[in-house]
Amino acid sequence: MRERTTMDPPRLEEVSDRIFAYIQPDGSWFLNNAGFIVGSKGVTLVDQCGTEARARALLEAVGRTTSAPIQTLVNTHHHADHTFGNFTVPAATTIVGHRRARDEVIATGVGIAQLFEGPDWGDIEVAPPFLCFEEQLTLFVDDLEVQLIHFGTPAHTTNDVVAWIPERRVLFAGDLVFNGGTPFALQGSIAGWLETLDRLESLGAETVIPGHGPVCGPEVYPTLRGYLRFVDEAARRGFEEGLAPLELARSLDLGEWEGLSDPERIVGNLHRAYSELRGEPRGHVLDLMPVVADMQSYLGGPLVSHA
Ligand SMILES: [Zn+2]
Repeated sequence: MRERTTMDPPRLEEVSDRIFAYIQPDGSWFLNNAGFIVGSKGVTLVDQCGTEARARALLEAVGRTTSAPIQTLVNTHHHADHTFGNFTVPAATTIVGHRRARDEVIATGVGIAQLFEGPDWGDIEVAPPFLCFEEQLTLFVDDLEVQLIHFGTPAHTTNDVVAWIPERRVLFAGDLVFNGGTPFALQGSIAGWLETLDRLESLGAETVIPGHGPVCGPEVYPTLRGYLRFVDEAARRGFEEGLAPLELARSLDLGEWEGLSDPERIVGNLHRAYSELRGEPRGHVLDLMPVVADMQSYLGGPLVSHA
């Protein structure tokens, strides 16, 4: 195992009255964001963390903020960094997510952890969402309306949900927004994500809590579009020339995207783009192992998480 890199501790930011973003630097693999909304009688959490220790640290941060119990946990999608910690919430907590998020959490299980070197995962138990919806669900924290919205197409994954709080113009975007890290579309859709960004932008959020990276505003959308278009254009060219995704990735000049963390995701993104160019449906299930092997080849070593 490589030497552990110590990241700055998570930080809590009150982005609007009683709405908190929980930001885990530096936003790379398994260092996701979460957040919570505090009501007079209970707390709604948005996402959990990817290791047991980090999940419990999030619960402690909630406990230092309010004595109100956690009532609800919303998962923005099935990825393990956002859901491994689900099992740590109080047993009476209602775990909410998209119908396919439930299926994917169960199908993914804990095995995905073996693909990454680094973290002490703890004793993860799979705890999928059990209140599920397909399009939209509205929940209230006291009188504050929180709209949980799925935009009808695979994007980052097949089951992305945002938590939109219109009264405060605050958006918990989940991994539909990466801020400073490479967006990862392997289990979603490049075209669907581009469409979804238009829908997201039209919500009119002033404060955007991304799935990874610092809190931002709507200025993040053009950057995301730019990266996804870069992937799309590169893939069209490479597909035409008959290059395999790894070959194409190695020949690519990442240019302005060079500085984003986890650049090896370009390989996974090209695999997804090729699937779409082959005419497969958005979110079509791709075999993970060969893609991970390609990402490792691109990196010249194992996938490492500093969570
Ligand atoms: Zn994700």
